[in-house]
Amino acid sequence: SIPLSFFGGLGGASRRGILVKGSNYLEALANVEIAVFDKTGTLTKGNFKVSGIFPAESVITGNAELKESVSGEMKAEAEERLIRMAAHAEIHSSHPIAASIRDAYGKAIDAEGMDEIEELSGYGVKALIDGKTVYAGSRKLMNDLGIRIENEAAAGTLVHIAEDGKYAGYILVEDEIKYDSQRAVKELMAMGIKKIVMLTGDRKNIGESVGKKLGITEIYTELLPADKVEKMVGLMKQKSPKGKLIFVGDGINDAPVLAGADIGIAMGGLGSDAAIEAADIVIMTDEPSKVAEAIKISKKTLRIVK
Ligand code: ADP
Ligand code: MG
Repeated sequence: SIPLSFFGGLGGASRRGILVKGSNYLEALANVEIAVFDKTGTLTKGNFKVSGIFPAESVITGNAELKESVSGEMKAEAEERLIRMAAHAEIHSSHPIAASIRDAYGKAIDAEGMDEIEELSGYGVKALIDGKTVYAGSRKLMNDLGIRIENEAAAGTLVHIAEDGKYAGYILVEDEIKYDSQRAVKELMAMGIKKIVMLTGDRKNIGESVGKKLGITEIYTELLPADKVEKMVGLMKQKSPKGKLIFVGDGINDAPVLAGADIGIAMGGLGSDAAIEAADIVIMTDEPSKVAEAIKISKKTLRIVK
């Protein structure tokens, strides 16, 4: 028997764009002690734009020492070739980075001459293009392949590309922090949530700079989907017996964590169908501050019940 006021609580939440899949989750929200956020698509918009294409010097010239004499024309040609290769490798990926690369290429991508197209979750993509093995993804991916990165930008999310075991360069992609994210962190802190944590598969300096801007101090970076689960299991042990851990994500590379948290909260607008399926609560407006609002509704509902 569910107390009547829970229906009021669920209804009130849904009118605010917060879909709670059961009164048990609404009740559990009152005891949240640890709030864990994914970065990309959750605290940031997940709307990447390509802001630079950087073919490896050795790719442009065939010789790093000739750097000075590279003509503008050679450079433009190498850039075109790199973005074309990346756009093809990303042909089927649903990651927002993939969409930004296909957009920047701006031409039709045909699958002719392509084979073995694979998504490497939390990592990048792999494809056979005209008989050549192309990888596009994180520094971690390149490290695991034993491919040396020649040089890279200090800031921004980077998509490194390798062709037949040789480093081919990188593409700089940039995302923006959601306007609402700072408010979300502030409100959760003001409510006395003990721990606010960010998990990301992105590189260290991006993760830390986003976290710092939002006032999150506990940040874990360069995590694969399985590493995110492992981190969450560790955090679970830091709660009191009745305390709850929430994970807030968009479902891209974090569906296992969403499913494993006490309460999984998914972004419903941008998030994947798999995330909406795996989550206990769905935020239709994609605003992280709705998490604090949901906790407030829970506490208010429980006061009425008691
Ligand atoms: P987050 O944990 O912040 O949500 P993801 O797990 O989605 O980030 O991705 C982690 C990292 O893996 C990205 O920052 C990117 O470097 C790389 N990556 C993942 N998918 C792709 C892809 N399709 N193309 C290129 N890089 C990718
Ligand atoms: Mg994500």
